[in-house]
Amino acid sequence: MAASRSNKTYARLRLVLGDQLNLDHGWFDEVDSDVLYVIAELGQELDYVKHHVQKICAFFAAMRRFADALAKQGHEVEYLDLDKTKEFNNLKDLLKVYCDQHAVDVFEYQRPDEYRLAEQLGDLGLPKSVEVRACDSEHFLLARDELEDYVERGKHNRMETFYRKLRKRFDILMDGDKPEGGEWNYDAENRHKLKADDLKEIPKPMTFDNDVGEILERLDRHDVEYFGEAREKLPWPVDRSQARQLLAYFCRRCLPNFGRFQDAMTCRHEHAWSLYHSRLSFALNAKILHPREVIDAALERYRESDDVPLSSVEGFVRQILGWREYVRAVYWVNMPDYARRNRLRAKRDLPRYFWDGDTKMNCMRQALGQSLEHAYAHHIQRLMITGNFCLLAGIDPNQVDAWYLGVYVDAIEWVEMPNTRGMSQFADGG
Ligand code: FAD
Repeated sequence: MAASRSNKTYARLRLVLGDQLNLDHGWFDEVDSDVLYVIAELGQELDYVKHHVQKICAFFAAMRRFADALAKQGHEVEYLDLDKTKEFNNLKDLLKVYCDQHAVDVFEYQRPDEYRLAEQLGDLGLPKSVEVRACDSEHFLLARDELEDYVERGKHNRMETFYRKLRKRFDILMDGDKPEGGEWNYDAENRHKLKADDLKEIPKPMTFDNDVGEILERLDRHDVEYFGEAREKLPWPVDRSQARQLLAYFCRRCLPNFGRFQDAMTCRHEHAWSLYHSRLSFALNAKILHPREVIDAALERYRESDDVPLSSVEGFVRQILGWREYVRAVYWVNMPDYARRNRLRAKRDLPRYFWDGDTKMNCMRQALGQSLEHAYAHHIQRLMITGNFCLLAGIDPNQVDAWYLGVYVDAIEWVEMPNTRGMSQFADGG
């Protein structure tokens, strides 16, 4: 056991998972010196699938920034990097030792969004003297125990029905009880092609220069297996300030054309990898940004100017209020057997070029190459190119899931699986 660990006692130990970086959570309203927050880089999170190196760096960098922000507010925080957690087999072992060492009476956690972690935290085997409490992560618009009111287990649910209910309930883009502009959905206006003149207008994506050299060294020191292009200067937003900057940039530069070119693809431009997409998914999924805050920023931009068409703002709201909340409901209502569904009995192996992009099929080479380079592809590339290829080729959905879960910076099972196994592979039967 590491001799350097402090033995200070605390009444409560609170665990913050890597995708629970929500500074506005009620936990942090008051500073209490009797509460210890633990944030840990864990080996078990690195090998359940093989991850893109930028995904690992983004989570570790964001976790460290979050710990620093909490400490700055006066909270007691213990950040455990891989050097400190290597002696533990898993999260359970680590929590047992830390609860014991700090003689805590209460262990608290925010309910995880992944089934795997929920199972683990639900069965920690801590001594009876330690009371275990779970609370909401205060991130989504729908609470976990409401999901079954909106989505039925094992049934063919429709996103559009779900989306309309949420529009009404949260009074978003509504005109009384009618949708603003008269239509619920402007999907038909979201399918423009990029013509030659449009290419000149594509904005340069906003990126950041987060130094992750130390994280890369640590990964190599611990022989962590990863793939994809490593960047010493990570371009993804890893704290609230950067995430807010990216949101503002999206609203200013991308939102006006988001709707028109939402479904477009091109390879004839250096910024074709991001087009008018927000690239906010990592900040959202790590809970650095709240979905309501993102929706409100887009609505404000729409209302204060006349260059954002309703079809753009509605298209954007639909992705977050609609699809994002919907796939989470599909996941939780149908797990754990959702993860085993294979309606089309697909069983071929995933081709090796998914790992190196080395194929003569041009569209696949572009989409795979960009995914390996940026740990990112926009929705249409994920669905229509790589996803459609796997569907047509009959690739085993377990292997398709594992690849999608590893490659994208925003990939967390609750959102990855219904999109991959469900929407793109039809393995859930629709
Ligand atoms: P934008 O196009 O700017 O959209 C704005 C936001 O809407 C996104 O940040 C995201 O939070 C939300 N959103 C959009 N579409 C969806 C959707 N279908 N489901 C849930 N939320 C959505 N998204 C993930 O966050 N993680 C994943 O692991 C993931 N895996 C996917 C796998 C497949 C096969 C497919 C087809 C889609 C997947 N998506 C996933 C959904 C979508 O492709 C990404 O959310 C999006 O590309 C992220 O880029 P962006 O932030 O620029 O999105």
